[in-house]
Amino acid sequence: MNRGKITDALKSGRILIADGAWGTALHSRGLKGGECPELWNVEHPDLVLEVAASYIGAGSNMIETNTFGGNRYKLEHFDLGDRTAELNKAGVEISRKAAGEENWVIASIGPTGKMTVMGDVTEEDFYNVFKEQAIALEAGGADAIVVETMSAIDEAIAAVKAAKENTNLEIISTFTYEPTVQGEYRTMMGVKPAEAATAAVNAGADIVGANCGKGYEGMKQIIEEIRNVLPDIPIIIQANAGLPELVNGESVFPASPEEMAAQNPLWIEAGVNIIGGCCGTTDKHIRAIRNAVDSRN
Ligand SMILES: [Zn+2]
Repeated sequence: MNRGKITDALKSGRILIADGAWGTALHSRGLKGGECPELWNVEHPDLVLEVAASYIGAGSNMIETNTFGGNRYKLEHFDLGDRTAELNKAGVEISRKAAGEENWVIASIGPTGKMTVMGDVTEEDFYNVFKEQAIALEAGGADAIVVETMSAIDEAIAAVKAAKENTNLEIISTFTYEPTVQGEYRTMMGVKPAEAATAAVNAGADIVGANCGKGYEGMKQIIEEIRNVLPDIPIIIQANAGLPELVNGESVFPASPEEMAAQNPLWIEAGVNIIGGCCGTTDKHIRAIRNAVDSRN
């Protein structure tokens, strides 16, 4: 079966399932705090493949790649800047292997950790760094690129444009929102969901949404705010498994698979098209989400 485009598959009204966390899944397989996750794509490809395969086994229609921190700025912290293309390509090849012919690989691009407001980078610097990463992700065989966990508009837009203008892939753009004291949602840099999604679409994003952040409770409101201004754009939501609790110095995400899956009908009603998970979600969460979505059809 030819999987075609994600946006075409959504046209029938089908709800697609994305994957769960990668960071926490790699840590549970032995990745240490100070290690470069992307180096595992060449040093422990078997363990990275295990994560990818676990999500396909749980019913994901699309999986991400272990390339979230694969931009040159982040890799330079580990003296791996010169291996940017190699590590990104290797990451996509692993997910491609797990995904098979019928599932999509949505290759992850995360933030650089730098900000234009600090004066240490320009928008052009962002563009060039994301262009390098996006080209490598396409070379590895990705179907789409997901620019995720963003909070600054200029960085996110540079990444969406760089991916759109230098590859033939579908582009997904997600931001991370936190509740204000008034119960509204903003990125850390003060951006509203409707503004961020509109800017992303204007820059070329095919699918928009939210990932990570403070639990899953605000996601329904975020979907509604985006739906209000963009009635036809496909929306993806990848929430964390609840609010992290510090247990013995480690972040633990408390939401059970059932608790997460219970949100799905509300999100679908609000207009979501693709549901996955972020930090703390496992293949068990994805399985529960898969079952909740399937039982509704
Ligand atoms: Zn997360």
